[in-house]
Order: sequence, then structure tokens, then C-alpha cells
Amino acid sequence: MRQTPRSSSNFRRPLIEHVERVQKNVRSCTGCGLCCTEAYNAQRILRIEATDIADHLATLPARRRDALLHRVDAVIARYRLAKAHEARLYTCPFLEPDFTCALPFDVKPLACLTFNPTTKDSCDQESKRFDLALPALEAANRAAGHDGKLAPIPVAVKAAWRARSASEPRSKKAGGRGEG
Ligand code: SF4
Ligand code: SF4
Repeated sequence: MRQTPRSSSNFRRPLIEHVERVQKNVRSCTGCGLCCTEAYNAQRILRIEATDIADHLATLPARRRDALLHRVDAVIARYRLAKAHEARLYTCPFLEPDFTCALPFDVKPLACLTFNPTTKDSCDQESKRFDLALPALEAANRAAGHDGKLAPIPVAVKAAWRARSASEPRSKKAGGRGEG
């Protein structure tokens, strides 16, 4: 698969190494996914994080990309996220039926990379790691010309996908999903 340079990738490197260590030494998330469901997940992300995800979606085969974008739309509708100004619980559209995440580590939102098993029986947001990485992420967001507004993952990804589609040359759009 073609690797797209991530505009906000620098902050992720140490976190990815940390997550890999946790998965090996503390406990694996395989078969769980609970923190990505409506039971716990109310995550809101910056536009730069959504842009990274949209860039990743653009590298996928059309069928797979369309299926994920369809899930994005379905989650927005199901949880009425489009106009939600406050944090609201929802099951993430990137959570697969087998409870794995559809996104590779190098495009995962910061909050996902910093919510991890802390012991064999418990998981938590690692606020110190989050706070340490946040300034670099916010700087990348500002450098890309975005404000600091947060939005639920599917809402932010849909907006980033629309902006991406709108900025593509007309000839490239022909086979794409368009603006859904
Ligand atoms: S972080 Fe915890 S709740 Fe979330 S998927 Fe991993 S084991 Fe499950
Ligand atoms: S992006 Fe992946 S890890 Fe993050 S909430 Fe969605 S399914 Fe979970």
C-alpha cells in the first residue's frame, strides 16, 4: 500500500512504540474493542486528525473505502452527531465486526493511541502521554490552517473527505464516491 506522509505523524511515533509494548507486555486488545463502542466512546478529534484518516481512506481500494464511508454516514445518522455540540456517546465507524480497528496506527487519533490497558484487568486514558503529545498535534493542526474545533470522529472525517474530494482535479473524481 502506498504510504502517505502524515502531516501530524511526528507525535505518533513514540506513542505507537508504547502501544506495541503494552499490547505485548500488559494485555492485547484483540477481541475487545469496548472503549470504541457507545458504552464508552465519545471521542472528538481535531481536523488534522481527520485529514490523516481521509488521506488513508483515499489509498484504499474503492470498495473498501466506500464501505467505510458508508459506515461513517450511518454512524452520524444513527447517533445524530451532525449537529451535536456537546460530547455524545457513539460506536466508532472504524470498529470492525471482529472488534479490531480499521485504521492503521499511523493515522489513529491521539486519544485512541493514549487509551490503553494499564493492567491485565483495566484500561484508562493515559493523560500524561496525551498531554505531552497534544502541543505537536495542535501545532500541526494550526499549520494546516485549521481552527481548534473538535468534532466526533465520523463528523470530522466526513468533512475532511469532502474537502479532499473538492480539492481533487475533476478527472480524478470520476471514479470516487464524491460527496456522499
Ligand atoms: S483499551 Fe481496553 S477496553 Fe479498549 S479495546 Fe483495549 S482492552 Fe478493550
Ligand atoms: S479509530 Fe479505531 S481505536 Fe479509535 S475509537 Fe475508532 S475503532 Fe476505536
